[in-house]
Amino acid sequence: MIANRADCPANSAAVHAITANAAKGADKSFDVIVGRTSDCATVCADGQFPDAFHRCSKAGREPQGRKGQAGHQSKEGDVRKITIIGAGHAGLQLGTGLLKAGHAVVIVTNRSADEVRSGRITSSQSMYNMAVGIERDFGMAFWDEHCPPIEGMHIRAGLDADRIMVDFRMRMPPGQSVDQRLKFPRWMEEFERLGGRLRIEDTNLDRLEEIAASSDLTIVAAGKGEIGKLFARDAARCTFDAPQRITALTYLHGVRPREDFGAININVHPGAGEMVHFPALTLSGACDIVNLECVPGGPMDVWSGIDTPARHLEATLDLIHSHFPWDAHRFADARLTDDLGVLAGPVTPTVRRPVGFLPSGQPVLALGDVFLLNDPMTGQGSNNASKCAALYLQAIEARGDLPFDTYWIAQLTERAWDETKWSARLTNTMLAPPAHVLGILAAAAERPGLAQQIAAGFNDPRTMGWYVDPVLANRVIAETTVTEQAA
Ligand SMILES: Cc1cc2nc3c(=O)[nH]c(=O)nc-3n(C[C@H](O)[C@H](O)[C@H](O)COP(=O)(O)OP(=O)(O)OC[C@H]3O[C@@H](n4cnc5c(N)ncnc54)[C@H](O)[C@@H]3O)c2cc1C
Repeated sequence: MIANRADCPANSAAVHAITANAAKGADKSFDVIVGRTSDCATVCADGQFPDAFHRCSKAGREPQGRKGQAGHQSKEGDVRKITIIGAGHAGLQLGTGLLKAGHAVVIVTNRSADEVRSGRITSSQSMYNMAVGIERDFGMAFWDEHCPPIEGMHIRAGLDADRIMVDFRMRMPPGQSVDQRLKFPRWMEEFERLGGRLRIEDTNLDRLEEIAASSDLTIVAAGKGEIGKLFARDAARCTFDAPQRITALTYLHGVRPREDFGAININVHPGAGEMVHFPALTLSGACDIVNLECVPGGPMDVWSGIDTPARHLEATLDLIHSHFPWDAHRFADARLTDDLGVLAGPVTPTVRRPVGFLPSGQPVLALGDVFLLNDPMTGQGSNNASKCAALYLQAIEARGDLPFDTYWIAQLTERAWDETKWSARLTNTMLAPPAHVLGILAAAAERPGLAQQIAAGFNDPRTMGWYVDPVLANRVIAETTVTEQAA
């Protein structure tokens, strides 16, 4: 029987999907999948490999046993089942990548596509070029033609329009922000189209036990969901135990465009908070998203009594006028995209242990915000989700037929931390800038090369080792000065 990709003359990912669907009792799976998989149709079904076609067909029609039952032991050659909890950014991207690589994947999530589409905004999801590029590699960047690009960054800090202490801008390779209410339902559709199984269910610990018992690998990508608390907080990697900002998001139409390029605008009012805004794509077309980051207990922390979209908009515009007046003219005609295009609440930056052990002792693996939850100020969470989906996919592929044991999980999650810890360090230094970071920002206003390095760091925070280290930062500033004077 043809049971894995190496046995398939077309090297087709369909092989796994066929046997996985058969395991679920979907008796038409073979015909359905072959009918829409061009490799099967052109290489096998047209008769070039009649024997392979016959054997694959047989595998697709024979009932498969479940794990632990006779007929399926997840040994070499058998299809292994990977279950992901959470159809958010990380879960859907990894699940789709795994399907394309020929794995059998189930995603269990607590909100249907319709509920996500018709629900409240969940994020501002600005993504930089590198992470959008990974989505493209996964064949999941469906909005390139419609989403206004974010082509640069403009950082300003000041107390009022006459006292701007920092002001610099630079171009960046384009990024984009696509409303998760658009993105996730489309990705869910794609996941199911490729043969993935999507189950709508709010997973608790008991269900997680059952799921893990019938899966070869269980990954928890449930974002800020309660189930993530299964993974212990790692206070050594992130010391915060309380929110550093109250975040107020607003999706707007009618914001006046910049005259130079579509940018992520980062405005800092020292002591009070920040306003980050950029162009995006939402359900009703192009829009702008404003993210007010308000220091708890400070003058921008006005959100607790605000209970209608109209009052949310009013408070947002008031804060823009009072704390970021240099940018206020752009919002003169701003209006909400929709009544659910508002969100306010605290975020506590948290790092969790990446491996959780269920009461039975089975290990499960954390991904995305479950593992590393950053404050949204520097916009790194969706970017990390995309990067880690790629990392996990690569590691699962490289594992071949070996078991996904705790040793493997531990190696993988250390690599994930190596990839993402810089985003946490970048964000945390922006939340409470030490003196040397203020020095970097001031210097960047004079030195375009330094500004360019900061922009590159938002795109790929692994390049930001110098930024978080005062000694290295001074060296980089000095060297940039020398380079620019010599040029
Ligand atoms: C206000 C705000 C603004 C942000 N802005 C940005 C930004 O500009 N740029 C950026 O890169 N990042 C931003 N982020 C972060 C980004 O949205 C997240 O990091 C990213 O969505 C994380 O992906 P994830 O897959 O880990 O979780 P999510 O995308 O949150 O997905 C989790 C999924 O799990 C499901 N789920 C939860 N619990 C259960 C359960 N018990 N059983 C089954 N399913 C469950 C949820 O319904 C959801 O579908 C922002 C976040 C916030 C809060």
